[in-house]
Amino acid sequence: MSTLRNDLELFHELVEVLINEEEQNPVAERIDANQLYDTLDLSLNQNPVIDDELKAVLSDVLIATPKTATRLFFNQLFGGRQPKAVLGDLLAVLLNNSMYTYKVAGPQVGIEQEIIKQSCKLVGYGESSNGTFPTGGSMSNYMAMVMARDAKDPNCRFDGMSKPLIAYTSKESHYSNAKNASFAGIGRNNMRYIETDADGKMIPHKLEAQIKADISKGCIPFFVNATAGTTVLGAFDPIDEIADITETYDIWLHVDGAYCGSVIFSDTYKHLVKGAERSDSFSYNAHKMLGTPLTCSLILVNDKKHLHNSFSNDASYLYQTDGDDFNLGKTSFQCGRRNDALKFWTLWKSIGTSGLEKIIDQQFELANVALDYIRRHPDYTLYSYDDSISVCFNYKDTDPMALCTALYEHQQTVVGFGSFNDDTFIRFVTINANNSKEDILNFFKVLEGFVSNTPSLKTRSAISV
Ligand SMILES: *Cc1c(COP(=O)(O)O)cnc(C)c1O
Repeated sequence: MSTLRNDLELFHELVEVLINEEEQNPVAERIDANQLYDTLDLSLNQNPVIDDELKAVLSDVLIATPKTATRLFFNQLFGGRQPKAVLGDLLAVLLNNSMYTYKVAGPQVGIEQEIIKQSCKLVGYGESSNGTFPTGGSMSNYMAMVMARDAKDPNCRFDGMSKPLIAYTSKESHYSNAKNASFAGIGRNNMRYIETDADGKMIPHKLEAQIKADISKGCIPFFVNATAGTTVLGAFDPIDEIADITETYDIWLHVDGAYCGSVIFSDTYKHLVKGAERSDSFSYNAHKMLGTPLTCSLILVNDKKHLHNSFSNDASYLYQTDGDDFNLGKTSFQCGRRNDALKFWTLWKSIGTSGLEKIIDQQFELANVALDYIRRHPDYTLYSYDDSISVCFNYKDTDPMALCTALYEHQQTVVGFGSFNDDTFIRFVTINANNSKEDILNFFKVLEGFVSNTPSLKTRSAISV
């Protein structure tokens, strides 16, 4: 008989397997996708498997799965592991609440609301602010766009689109903006991509020129997305200057801080989102910079009435009561909703706001170690800028795409590549705050050793011929 206690014992054993594996082999052995079903027994069959067999197959799967928490994973805009957040998430799984009503979520409602309240304060929002935990940053951006649409064209909720609405974002912003314009009935062709400067930041006067051009054609600008931490370069759009424009033309301003909005926790780095308090909505992913398990995303709104207007089915008829503040289903996209708050709250409670600040500061510190190394070594070319935890570079004449793939196939380190304008380069993300300066320098040693031992690596000049 399988009981929870027995299975949790098995869990402990498997955790040992995983942690040992992470220490011994920080980069998992890659299984070619074509070989996957021949390499691991992933089959589902008529008959059950007995305990030992289950344990064996689960440990095979654990060992073969890419390891995102180790000191050699730099591939994504998440990485590492905050143990207290893991603890909170495991408890959330056991509790298995749904966040829609106070009746079934109880104190978890207060946990979620406390995070939202403190986050709104850090952004600089006032008493009418609130928020919710969507499924991720893409959904946070989507909810912002829908609220902006409904604010500009209130009838839209009932009769569908009646006005030619136009949305704006920078060329370097996240691809979810285009999808969201399609989902929200705006249309992908009504998304304007504003040019960025050499650092990858939106150019405000280009935004204003585009807005004027659209107005003169009879279109209605309704939504500007400013990015706090672009996906490739980690650039911050100038929110204050953009807010001057959105206020002039009465346009909703959303700050997509999925990647780096968490700088609100740092006295040293919050200047990067200066002006955020003037926005209508602000999102950030705690599963990126703050290291909670996926997913943990917040959308905050300066005035909570917009959340109710757009996401509560009967908001126009039902006046807000105290009860509504505890029945979170009134402001969420989903019906049944996972508890993404407890992991973040457990982390925040245990290390305090000052501990979260240290996480952010450490990431920039590690980026500075990498920047400094690259600037002092002439074999490297730098493509990114200060105040970013995405450090973009090329090494010697090596083709970045070939190098990233080879590093991963040979279990050296996991890192990705990106492009800006005409350049393609390695994007090294220092988001794992558990890493030390030595781990960063070790990455460069691993890379350099690999390149010198792998003469077959194609060079960039050879590729472009
Ligand atoms: C990661 C990211 C998103 C999307 O967030 P998901 O949680 O992956 O959906 C949106 N915008 C930016 C700037 C991001 O970095």
